[in-house]
Amino acid sequence: MVTSVKPIIIVGGGLAGLTLGIGLRQRGVSAALWEAGHYPRHRICGEFICGRGQETLARLGLRDLLERAGAVGANTAAFFSATQSTRPLPLPSRAMCLSRFTLDATLAEKFRELGGELWEGKRRSDGDAGEGVVRATGRRLQAEEGGARWFGMKAHARNVPLTADLEMHVSPRGYVGLCRVNGGMVNVCGLFRRHAGESVGPQNRRELLRGPTGSPLHQRLASAEFDENSFCAVAGLSLRPYQAVTRADCCIGDAITMIPPVTGNGMSMAFESAELAIEPLVAWSRGEISWAETQPQIARRCDAAFARRLAWAKWLQRFVLTPSLQNALVRFAARSDWFWRMAFEKTR
Ligand SMILES: Cc1cc2nc3c(=O)[nH]c(=O)nc-3n(C[C@H](O)[C@H](O)[C@H](O)COP(=O)(O)OP(=O)(O)OC[C@H]3O[C@@H](n4cnc5c(N)ncnc54)[C@H](O)[C@@H]3O)c2cc1C
Repeated sequence: MVTSVKPIIIVGGGLAGLTLGIGLRQRGVSAALWEAGHYPRHRICGEFICGRGQETLARLGLRDLLERAGAVGANTAAFFSATQSTRPLPLPSRAMCLSRFTLDATLAEKFRELGGELWEGKRRSDGDAGEGVVRATGRRLQAEEGGARWFGMKAHARNVPLTADLEMHVSPRGYVGLCRVNGGMVNVCGLFRRHAGESVGPQNRRELLRGPTGSPLHQRLASAEFDENSFCAVAGLSLRPYQAVTRADCCIGDAITMIPPVTGNGMSMAFESAELAIEPLVAWSRGEISWAETQPQIARRCDAAFARRLAWAKWLQRFVLTPSLQNALVRFAARSDWFWRMAFEKTR
């Protein structure tokens, strides 16, 4: 008997969409992916991959592929505030850093190699959902949240001396992470708060990325040579956690919810949510379960996997962005291995 296999349409070819497409193709399910942009391209991201998503990558046979694409290992992290700093602290588990320019393009090529249909430069309308359609369209923009507007920026630079594989610099405006990526570059990526009515032009944005004069961040970037093509920015970020079961569509990755970037866990959640969706989608594709069963099954799996880390991340983000607590937090991290390991483990 020949089992009919229904195709899956994936909207959004970022990390979640591409990982899902690869997983489906590996199981013989036909998958078509719509991506509004093109590959390769720079994306806003700290480009620091850590946590369980690495196990997903290994299970899908993608970890070695990314290592071959140039991913750089990261084993230590150091934290800086206006007056405090830590020594390089060992990461509880090894992370990998790879530019999104290379990462997304590598996964897109793998998806095509496996027979996936990838349409670049094709934006699918939001209302165009329904059976067999998975939304992997990334973060949902939110003009303002809790009286603040969030925006992110990233650029690659050379000539940035680092004391650890990942440096995290906090300031009253937000935080900036620095990590080594492929090609001898350092990723400089920040999340900042803009108050209502305040205007932050492109030049001020670059200054924000460089940090306040005299700060350790400013010193690190004193001789930085930025790659102008790598600058990107995004405004209107939403950092409030959402549950997948509350979403009307079948969603994975940031389309469900965005975890605060301070955790460096968003990419991991994109990989993991894609993997969690594979089995129910394969079952639907083979006609074993209905769409009405498939969508909530995926949502419940994702919520069960992410609820705890989202709750911890919300508090961590709040503490890190409270100016009066920043020096104390960094001092505490410098003195207590337990505190730092706990914050790391609870948010992934
Ligand atoms: C400042 C900042 C720093 C970060 N740093 C880190 C970090 O260091 N480590 C980490 O793990 N995570 C980090 N993240 C989070 C991480 O970037 C995201 O969690 C991850 O990219 C989510 O993957 P995704 O596939 O869900 O979405 P995306 O990667 O955003 O992909 C969504 C895709 O959908 C496409 N699309 C959207 N709408 C449509 C449509 N209608 N039709 C067709 N295509 C569409 C878009 O073009 C895009 O390619 C950071 C985020 C920010 C903002």
